[in-house]
Amino acid sequence: MVQKKIKNNTMNIYRFPTKDNWKDLVKRPVLEQQEISGLITEIFTEVEKNGDKALIEFNKKFDKANTQRISVSKEEIEDAQKQIKDELKQAILQAKENISIFHASQKQEMQKIETTQGVVCWRENRAVEKVGIYIPGGTAPLFSTVLMLAVPANLAGCKEIVLCTPPDKSGNINPAILYAAKLCGVSEIFKTGGAQAIAAMTLGTESIPQVNKIFGPGNQFVVAAKEYAQRFGVAIDMPAGPSEVLVIADEKAVPEFCAADLLSQAEHGSDSQVVFITTDLKVFNETINAVDQQIKELPRNEFAAQALENSSFILVNSLEEALEFSNLYAPEHLILAINDFEKYIPEIQNAGSVFLGNYSCESAGDYASGTNHTLPTNAYAKNYSGVSLDSFVKKITFQHLSKQGLRNLGKTIELMAEAEGLFAHKNAVSIRLK
Ligand code: NAD
Repeated sequence: MVQKKIKNNTMNIYRFPTKDNWKDLVKRPVLEQQEISGLITEIFTEVEKNGDKALIEFNKKFDKANTQRISVSKEEIEDAQKQIKDELKQAILQAKENISIFHASQKQEMQKIETTQGVVCWRENRAVEKVGIYIPGGTAPLFSTVLMLAVPANLAGCKEIVLCTPPDKSGNINPAILYAAKLCGVSEIFKTGGAQAIAAMTLGTESIPQVNKIFGPGNQFVVAAKEYAQRFGVAIDMPAGPSEVLVIADEKAVPEFCAADLLSQAEHGSDSQVVFITTDLKVFNETINAVDQQIKELPRNEFAAQALENSSFILVNSLEEALEFSNLYAPEHLILAINDFEKYIPEIQNAGSVFLGNYSCESAGDYASGTNHTLPTNAYAKNYSGVSLDSFVKKITFQHLSKQGLRNLGKTIELMAEAEGLFAHKNAVSIRLK
């Protein structure tokens, strides 16, 4: 590895790394688990003991915000509607429309299946009744996340949608978050962020209702708290932590486009990570230079520069090798800036969301194309999907056996029950068929 200062920024450059080095290259810049887990336990204990009072104190401590009350009033929500410019309202409406169309298309008709004559089985969907959605707001108010979570929650038929997000230093919530929340039918909004928001939705406080399932991305404190919440019987969508993108480019890629995509994830936070892999030396060098140029123009370039220090620019021998690395890394976002992308789709095994070709920028999926931007990070794309309509429903199985159906299946059940030594199971059949 060469850690290179490219004019203004430090970037990690790897030319043809051998596979022995890959295990280091796929590591994320995560905080020490032990360090966080002590803090998470303390926060949960404090919220359980002192409820809203604890949340108000945590707002002071972590967000430097003075909040008299945790719940957002109707007046605050109404005021926010007036503060949003019509142009932004229109943009939010178009994004909502696309997200609704894509998620509504995920509804599946349940089919009744006769497995044996007289034995009919099927599944029915039931929405998770009370859901909690976490909207990140530490360094940027992600009102787009409101659309990504509240739209499918509503389509699924969730009865109660509780929203938590950190207040700004004046104790307010960004008006775009409040506008989007009202537009998407959120039931209640609360000013609390980080691990304490997750604790509050898990345990309930005087103001915040306890929920059945918690959704939403966040920083490492939020992810660790969601993990901890499961001990209390609450379900979570997935570990959706600090953002990451992996871009694979060939000689037809446009270096300026690749650089823009890399920076779009790097600007999320200092713990974000971006990886650039190419087979082409010219594209490699030009992309690195373009990153160095474009970063100067970004208002959040401090975050981006720190994220770049955790990031890698890798030159490889073939696209097959790039794909193999990507599957090991399992990125939240994967961009294939390659000419023949169709050919490589079947090779993609692990990724949260994939963007194909030179014009499919990752921001499209972040905001408005219709796909969900709440996605697994830190290699969890190996075993989790991103949020979808399914995340908000449970599927209950049903069956009906006619008398003849039980006759047709009875012997099999009796034999299996007897072989397991479970005679009451066997008798439940025998007694009916006597
Ligand atoms: P955030 O809302 O996730 O976290 C802010 C909260 O963190 C604060 O309210 C505070 O309570 C808590 N906090 C901050 N420092 C702390 C400390 N030292 N100790 C205890 N608690 C502390 O907002 P953020 O920080 O801007 O992070 C948003 C994250 O969400 C970014 O990492 C971004 O990359 C990620 N993200 C992920 C996805 C995804 O789908 N995976 C999508 C969008 C954003």
